[in-house]
Amino acid sequence: MKEVGKKIKEFCDWLNSILSEADKLYSQEKESLKGSQKALQFLSEISPYIRELETLIQDFKTMLSGYQRIHERAVKEEERAKKIQWRLKYGGCTVIKFVPCGKNCRGCPHGPYRYRVVKIGGKQHWIYEGKA
Ligand SMILES: [Zn+2]
Repeated sequence: MKEVGKKIKEFCDWLNSILSEADKLYSQEKESLKGSQKALQFLSEISPYIRELETLIQDFKTMLSGYQRIHERAVKEEERAKKIQWRLKYGGCTVIKFVPCGKNCRGCPHGPYRYRVVKIGGKQHWIYEGKA
């Protein structure tokens, strides 16, 4: 990106110097055939550079639209992440249940405990919220 911008600036500086030189020539020799011939020569000299500039601008546009796509995708990702964060914090439904500890102790099953069950992307997340 920076490289293309630098090239375009260099080219524009160069083009400006050529054009101001052509202006000088034109005002110096406005009426003479020689002047118009020189102006014509300048124009034909700079035409390949103008084509190069067009190519650079096209490349620049392509890069820009690429960056725009990346930016749009990042914005969507961020929105999605925010929604998931919100759901993990506040969403889902509350489940209160007793839970066996697996050791088959005297106190089994333990609880009741409160959980919030949130489904994200088809997967259930059980968020422990303490004793009920
Ligand atoms: Zn137990």
